[in-house]
Amino acid sequence: MDKDQILSKFSTDPDRYYKVALFESEGFRRKSCTKCHRFFWTLDDGLSLCPDHIENSYSFIGDPPTNKRFDYTQAWKEVESFFVQNNHKSVGRYPVVCRWRDDLYFTIASIVDFQRVMGSKVVFEFPANPLIVPQTCLRFKDIENVGVTGRHFSSFCMIGQHSIPNSQGYWKDRCVDLDFKLLTDRFGINKKEIVFVEDVWAGGGSFGSSLEYFVRGLELGNAVFTEFQGDLANYSTLDQKIIDMGAGLERFAWITMGTPTAYDCCFGPITKYMINKIGIDTDSNVISKYFMAIARALSESDDISIVRKTAAKIAGLDETKQDKIISPLEGVYMIADHLRTLVFAISDGALPSNVGGGYNLRMILRRTLATIDRFGWNFDLNDLIDLHIDYLKSTYPELEQTRNDVKTIIEVEKNRYNESRVRMKNMASTLKTQNKKLSVDDLIRLYESDGITPDFLKEYQIISEIPSTFYERLSDLHQSEKTEKKEELNLEGIADTDLLYYKNDPHEFDAKILKIINNKFVILDKTSFYARGGGQEPDHGKIAEFDVIDVTKHGNVVLHEIKEGTPKEGMVVTCKIDSVRRYGITRNHTSTHVLNASARNILGSWIWQHSAFKDADYARLDITHHSNLTEEEITKIEDLANATVRKDIPILINQFERGEAEQEYGFRIYQGGVVPVKLVRIVNIEGFDVEACGGTHVQKTGEVGLIKITKAERIQDGVVRLEFVSGESALKYTQTQDRKISHIVKSLGSSKEKMLESFEHAMKDSEDAKKRLRQIIKRTSDMSAREAISEAKNLGKVKLYSAVDEELDEEFHISVGEIATKLDKSLIYCVLIVKNESIKIISFSGADAVSTKKAGDLVRDVSKVLGGSGGGRDTFGQGGGKDLSKIKDALLTIEKSILGER
Ligand SMILES: [Zn+2]
Ligand SMILES: [Zn+2]
Repeated sequence: MDKDQILSKFSTDPDRYYKVALFESEGFRRKSCTKCHRFFWTLDDGLSLCPDHIENSYSFIGDPPTNKRFDYTQAWKEVESFFVQNNHKSVGRYPVVCRWRDDLYFTIASIVDFQRVMGSKVVFEFPANPLIVPQTCLRFKDIENVGVTGRHFSSFCMIGQHSIPNSQGYWKDRCVDLDFKLLTDRFGINKKEIVFVEDVWAGGGSFGSSLEYFVRGLELGNAVFTEFQGDLANYSTLDQKIIDMGAGLERFAWITMGTPTAYDCCFGPITKYMINKIGIDTDSNVISKYFMAIARALSESDDISIVRKTAAKIAGLDETKQDKIISPLEGVYMIADHLRTLVFAISDGALPSNVGGGYNLRMILRRTLATIDRFGWNFDLNDLIDLHIDYLKSTYPELEQTRNDVKTIIEVEKNRYNESRVRMKNMASTLKTQNKKLSVDDLIRLYESDGITPDFLKEYQIISEIPSTFYERLSDLHQSEKTEKKEELNLEGIADTDLLYYKNDPHEFDAKILKIINNKFVILDKTSFYARGGGQEPDHGKIAEFDVIDVTKHGNVVLHEIKEGTPKEGMVVTCKIDSVRRYGITRNHTSTHVLNASARNILGSWIWQHSAFKDADYARLDITHHSNLTEEEITKIEDLANATVRKDIPILINQFERGEAEQEYGFRIYQGGVVPVKLVRIVNIEGFDVEACGGTHVQKTGEVGLIKITKAERIQDGVVRLEFVSGESALKYTQTQDRKISHIVKSLGSSKEKMLESFEHAMKDSEDAKKRLRQIIKRTSDMSAREAISEAKNLGKVKLYSAVDEELDEEFHISVGEIATKLDKSLIYCVLIVKNESIKIISFSGADAVSTKKAGDLVRDVSKVLGGSGGGRDTFGQGGGKDLSKIKDALLTIEKSILGER
């Protein structure tokens, strides 16, 4: 929807859309900016320009308009106490990793906390009304501005003031009244300094008017009144109107402190600490002048390098001074910002990686490390993390619990970065010699495929500036939707299936066939067949005499796929699920929860279920983890999981209102992803693990019997796959393993007790045998070479020795072929070696034979016949194939290829 159109429509009727009681009672006047014609409301009769165009913009730097000074933490306490006094509930922040939305990696605004997606609709669920929340939001679009502009952050605190107008909540009048009082009464800002600008908001099919409030050109907040749905030609009032007032806490602190940048007052002691440590001379007069000029220049241009130059000129800084004072300051600010973002993101379970949202995190960490390297600074990142958490914990006490986890993850990533620096340096020096101008696409490719950040290239003076579009483009590339949509069948008019597996779960039941689709999908009025979902495989069994081979859920209707035959619609049939299969799956499902929580306990808070799969005799759990697991870690996880099994803990399954479950158990419940229903099913392994889950579970952990991890491997950056078995399957697995061992023991002629010793002996014998064999080959090669020459077939200009060998290996033939073609320069030596169900080809061409046939070419031709590939140099080639039936053809091909026949 076109915002400009909505705005021009709303602006023609300001009394209806914008005029709030406060404007009337205080005597605000509505004006149109003489420069841009935007409408705004002010008490200052002399004002004729909107906040974007006023002359005294950002004059609070060095001269705050408030009679109180609040740093970041204090500013929140002040805001909170004001709203609580005015009957708002103060709600703790939601995670910055947006687990409850499929379309977002990170929480980008406070209103997102309360949005839940149901089908294609967004609904709002408020834990209280009205409320305020200090919501940390992550945004990576303006990353190149962070540290430079004085006001851009990769994470910031959005003060969310939210209300639904009903018996408890309020609408526009009270909202603007409160915001005004907060600024005047609590922050002591002169009424005349506050300007409200008319605007609109539109998104997700709804829209409404909004009032942005400014003080000296700085936007402090924006009150959005979401009121309508539809489009401008045809719209109606929403059943549930909503106030979405978002204000930047960083800006509230900044305007009261009047520091050169918002960074100076929002990171607690950390910036001062860094500045002292590196010893920059901060002549605050020049710096204030410079950053005020930056702020003003930003309204004229988006190009940050132009803005910097303009500001330096105004502040009277030459290039050397800018490099000496401003550049390191920008580095300090950026590091403080990026680390704070990492603290929040890692605390909430996100990992830096090369996929999804983790991408942005790796990028900002690498940027931080590259900047530290570029300036040659000596910061201990752990100290900086401590400073952040110590400062933030009065507002966000939960950060204390993950302090060490944050350090661990950053350390792992730092080491990874340092390891890759050597390779990056080599690439950089190659790029330098090429002396090519790098486009944004080049830079993105370098980062995507080689992990080389533009900051690193800047450090090595390969580029002079980072293009302003780089981070935005990169962010866009990784902002695509998290999930794919599945195809919907048209099942209109069919009643929802009664899901018996959520009730008393009879494994045998009678049901009525409501409909049959395409002769193979049966829809019943009720079913105990579990439909594939949440990584749990479906039940198998019988509907009447027909075999059920798959079960899927479409909306609230369950489809049973049958193997063959056609039952009749309307029949009442007896259905039976395969209980053994179900029990295997069920045990594996409970085991998945147990293993997930065990891994989290052993490894750290960053462990989340990435995905899972549970079949009857096989299951896997993919977890978010930074590195390969060590054997010791695997054992520890297995031990804890099995200790939990032995404790025989009851598993409680209950329905909760979604919001209630989130408040009670936190967002950890969303291990399996977003739950698109209002009532969530909570599976609680008491005192050990709580998840929202729709699967089947045993009643007590003891029923699982045994959990055995069979394999652990890193399947992608940041994800480790655990394959495991439980219950019967775990027993069968250990029995099979034992049989294998018995077989090995037998072959070794040993006993299980002495198995390892015997194995080591056997290994040593084999090594010795190999050594002896090499000696023998050395001694006999010469003789074999002469024999080959004498047996070779004369093909005119060249001689050919060819053979199939099932006994000796390539080591022998390489040795012989090399000697033979040296002794006879017209010889071509080509052997097919059959070993382990496949064929290897070794070929040599003597110096004189090369002009007739190159060894590499010959091997290529022959490999093709064997269904494989090969190649090599002029004098030596190797290749192979798997088609054993073509050996004769291959032999014939050797000769044909040499003679140039096809
Ligand atoms: Zn204007
Ligand atoms: Zn589950």
